[in-house]
Amino acid sequence: MREMTDNEQRILTLVGADGPLSKRDLSERGRMAWATVSKYVNRLEREDILERTGTSVCDRHLGKNAYLYDLAVRAPLFVGIDIEYRTSRVAHVNLRRQICRQQVFATPEIADIEELIAFVHGLYRVELEAQDERTPPIAGVGIGLPRWLVSGESDLFLKLGERLTDLFGVPVRVENNIRAYTLFVLSQLRETSFLVVSVRNGIGAGIVSRGRLHRGETGLAGEIGHITIDAAGRQCRCGKQGCLETIVNQRLLCEKYRVATGTLTSGCEEDVASDDCLRELFTAAHQGAQAALTILEEAAIPLGRSLATLLLVLDIQSIYLVGRFGQHGAVWIDSLQREIQRNVDPGLSFSVHYRPLDDDGYLLGAASLVARDYLDYSILAAPEVSTRRR
Ligand SMILES: [Zn+2]
Repeated sequence: MREMTDNEQRILTLVGADGPLSKRDLSERGRMAWATVSKYVNRLEREDILERTGTSVCDRHLGKNAYLYDLAVRAPLFVGIDIEYRTSRVAHVNLRRQICRQQVFATPEIADIEELIAFVHGLYRVELEAQDERTPPIAGVGIGLPRWLVSGESDLFLKLGERLTDLFGVPVRVENNIRAYTLFVLSQLRETSFLVVSVRNGIGAGIVSRGRLHRGETGLAGEIGHITIDAAGRQCRCGKQGCLETIVNQRLLCEKYRVATGTLTSGCEEDVASDDCLRELFTAAHQGAQAALTILEEAAIPLGRSLATLLLVLDIQSIYLVGRFGQHGAVWIDSLQREIQRNVDPGLSFSVHYRPLDDDGYLLGAASLVARDYLDYSILAAPEVSTRRR
């Protein structure tokens, strides 16, 4: 597959979001000259990426019917792979950011990068075997995985991407799960600068600045779960003590709730951290139960302080809190917002929003790691307006 130009990315993004569209529609919405649109649409049509799907009733500029273009049936697909500690999922994702086929596999014990490569190779082979002459070509593979799946490698993501690109013969990009998920959020929001903060058994942040995902020099950007809160605290999986995620996480929130409600029983470890229990906690807080509110307020202190640090460093104004908190997750926003405000410049404006975690988002986001060569999500965002108060 060749590289798409910026104009082609604009055309594909607009058609994927709002197609079918005429050349005139594309020229207006994409702010491109008609001749430019025409040149690239023709080229994408020749390459089986766009196809004509009919005509618009009337093109008022030309005074005649105009062809409508949509993504072609043979438009390239992307493979998205989401690897978690227990299960891994593989999906075909199209340029409309839809999941076409999805399979789930158990994740084996993985000791080092070689075993990880062998596992991913196996997943990819399954996808290739499912291909036939009618299936569109695979244009790339995007993979999201936990940073600590294999320890002792500096920039595991980059290394893995290079090795797998050689092995598969198509571009392969790898990031941690939260950065992959952040690309999914980016494709849904009409915003160009924001943070996605996920609270699960770990805490991580994805950073989008001016429409671009920030990964840092070695893929460590956004590891807020490992900000030290209590140097004498619990041992963390990263090797340090008292990191933020040893103090606030899904499991601890549930455990505190079970203790407060007197429903903690031994021998049900899994149940303690279950999504049901977490939803119960947020529902109770929403209904005004003091014990639940206190747990969330206490947890908001270290989390809010860490987020305040991030806002001061990055100068980003929107935070999207993501978790399996159920429909009442927004009940945490007030206490978080208060704690952040207490720890930043009083004139700094920011907002915190809750988004329930969408499992497909990990797969779609992983696929976006490569699909973004074809799509430019930032053009869907409203023009950037400075709302800064100083
Ligand atoms: Zn840590």
